[in-house]
Amino acid sequence: MEKCSICLKEFPEAAMKKMIQIVNRKAYNKAICPSCQAIVANNPNYYYLVEEK
Ligand SMILES: [Zn+2]
Repeated sequence: MEKCSICLKEFPEAAMKKMIQIVNRKAYNKAICPSCQAIVANNPNYYYLVEEK
C-alpha cells in the first residue's frame, strides 16, 4: 500500500500514478491515487513521471 500525496488515503501501489509537482523550480516526487489524478490533471504544476524503457 502507498499513501496518496493529496488525499493521504492508502491505495495499492499499482493504482498509484507517479507524478512530479513543480513549485518554485523544485520538483517534488508525488504518488497520486485514481480519484486525485482527475484533480491534478487540470493543475499545470503536476507532470507525469515516465520510466524510460
Ligand atoms: Zn488521493
